[in-house]
Amino acid sequence: MPTSLSVFRWSRGERERWQAFDVDAGPDTTVLDALVEIQRRRDPSLAFRYACRVGMCGSCAMVVNGRERWACRTRLVSLRAGAIRVRPLYHFPLLRDLVVDMAPFTARMRAVGAALVPAPDAEPYARIPAGSTERSEIDPAIECIGCGMCLSACTMVGHNARFPGPAALNRAFTLERDSRDAAGEARWRVLLGDDALARCHGQGACTEVCPMGLAPTTSIVRLRQMATRKLLGLG
Ligand code: SF4
Repeated sequence: MPTSLSVFRWSRGERERWQAFDVDAGPDTTVLDALVEIQRRRDPSLAFRYACRVGMCGSCAMVVNGRERWACRTRLVSLRAGAIRVRPLYHFPLLRDLVVDMAPFTARMRAVGAALVPAPDAEPYARIPAGSTERSEIDPAIECIGCGMCLSACTMVGHNARFPGPAALNRAFTLERDSRDAAGEARWRVLLGDDALARCHGQGACTEVCPMGLAPTTSIVRLRQMATRKLLGLG
């Protein structure tokens, strides 16, 4: 079945443009298959990023027909009829065509202290037991693959460079519920500042697009509940 893809093109020194390609698609052809086909047979200069090809790494995240998706898990037949528009993620610096610079993702994680800092006297192999309340709270929020789709979908990320964004706040929540972490004080200084929890508008676009089915919106609500307790001197 011939299908038309309209692909965003840009490289340094050029004007951005949309380029149309026709591909011959079968029932299981994905957006990634189509892009690989275009690169191999039509235009080797087309740049896009992918690695695992099987919906694990998230590196093929892009915006297809106006919505963040992973190209390797998006079949062409699942998209509405007509030309399919493929563009890079929003809110990241563009490197070339469909490839963005993911450095701001890491920077936002760092800014909110989204890494485990064990207490100096912590046991080296401390485990959080399966079935514990702590574990059941953290488990639904830990499978983030760092794809950046939630940042692309979040209007506040585009509006405020200091806002940590959904992935970092989701990670901050898991650390706040992790009894092994000892960096809470510094993290809460950021979370309670003007540009973090106070900035989320709860629109839920992050949760809608997360390919792992995570709900950063819920993590943010839980952090806000914890923040309220802190501000009232209860936690
Ligand atoms: S929270 Fe979901 S959408 Fe956001 S980076 Fe992690 S996996 Fe991707």
